[in-house]
Amino acid sequence: MGDNKFLGRREFLKRSGACLAGAALSPSLFQGCSKTAAKKPPNLLIVFPDQMRAHSQGFMNEDPVITPVLDRFAGESLVFTEAVSNYPVCSPFRAMLMTGKYPLANGVLANCNTNGTEHGYALREDERCWSDILRERGYSLGYIGKWHLDGPYKPYVKCYNNREDFAWNEWCPPERRHGFDHWYAYGTYDQHMKPMYWNTDAGRNDAHWVDQWGPEHEADQAIRYIRNEGGTFRDPEKPFALVVSMNPPHMPYDQLPDKYVEMYSDRALEELCNRPNIPPAGTRWGDYYRKHIRNYLAMTTGVDKQFGRILAALKDHGLEDNTIVLFTSDHGNCLGIHDQISKNNHYEESMRIPFLLRWPGTIQPRHDDLLFSSPDIYPTLMDLMGFSGSIPGDVQGRSHAGLIRNGSGERPASQPYIWVPYGKPAWGRRGVRTHRHTLMYSRMPDQPDGVMLHDNLEDRYQLMNLADQEENLVEKLRNDKLVPWLEATGDPWLRGL
Ligand code: CA
Repeated sequence: MGDNKFLGRREFLKRSGACLAGAALSPSLFQGCSKTAAKKPPNLLIVFPDQMRAHSQGFMNEDPVITPVLDRFAGESLVFTEAVSNYPVCSPFRAMLMTGKYPLANGVLANCNTNGTEHGYALREDERCWSDILRERGYSLGYIGKWHLDGPYKPYVKCYNNREDFAWNEWCPPERRHGFDHWYAYGTYDQHMKPMYWNTDAGRNDAHWVDQWGPEHEADQAIRYIRNEGGTFRDPEKPFALVVSMNPPHMPYDQLPDKYVEMYSDRALEELCNRPNIPPAGTRWGDYYRKHIRNYLAMTTGVDKQFGRILAALKDHGLEDNTIVLFTSDHGNCLGIHDQISKNNHYEESMRIPFLLRWPGTIQPRHDDLLFSSPDIYPTLMDLMGFSGSIPGDVQGRSHAGLIRNGSGERPASQPYIWVPYGKPAWGRRGVRTHRHTLMYSRMPDQPDGVMLHDNLEDRYQLMNLADQEENLVEKLRNDKLVPWLEATGDPWLRGL
């Protein structure tokens, strides 16, 4: 699949030519396209908790959640209100984030675990990630928290999440870190009150455990990185990029400090269950929601608090103005809604993620309903930072930097949805989301094919499947929106449509 085929002509011209003038005239590797070109190249900070749905941001007025930091930060940021995780589960999102490619192109077609290793699902060492670009451009790069892009292999690392016969967690060796020179991370580890980490120099058997809630500890580490404590975290002469990837509000939901749960102690349970699509009490998934929602929201409040501490450290060290900050998540969480335990489905609570981008003086704070897709993150950030010329031709995401800077640029008409069963790339679910509709097809061996259509304006909680009564609309969305995505990504699923 060629880049030119995938990109619109305008996009291709913009990407290939727009920065050439500036780049050719300047000897500086950091020369950018914007008016900020004369400044020191910007730092980049990405904070992304795991499994935080867009609805759990207080300023969205959806979930009854307490997020004072995000509420304030939203007022300083460009908020993409309809950003999605196109394949809303851990490793596929993370691979889209790092490579700017959809799963069929980057090879991470499902989660990295024992099943995934069997099919080679892991971030390829020879991918050119955005972090590789920044490394070449002289950045210091730090990664803190959950990585989940390596396939576990035997003998498995001895830890929670890894059983004798099935494993999730794996060490990432230095040659697979894609430019990150400061490493304080793990693959998958769901013990929030006693998280484990491999630091930069630790070998596979040298992980350490910490008696602290994961997000608090990771914020501590991020603050030490920002302060460059002891001068050992990064080169103070270089710009930096730091990723802080927190596990909560991922399950298990009962592992968090009491202080965050206590903030919800005056809220009646039914007050916390304000979405009309939550199944009723007494049903399996209605009870599941009620069992966990208080802690889910409390975890989000805890993450919000830690995000605030990291932002304060940036400000205290005079780095606020020249640091691009992105807050997002790898996917959302149904928590029982639509009888779905959490993510990996086409519903809004699963697909829609927070997406807040702040760069004081360059990005005008506002809300925008752009149909932003996960692979767009890489080219958009690199373009914003002035490195559009370094984006590999096989990156499939689109840069929306022009739109972010000054409102110019094409606006996508849809976002694809993807789920692939292990080892069966021609099967599974595919779909497409527009400003108004979500269309989803499912196809599995030995099961009847399924199709669902939701009108997200008339039925914003997606309680009705309109596929049978709106056959013409289904056909139109399929042909005009879904098929072009399948063709552009070379998806073998298309052959069965
Ligand atoms: Ca996840």
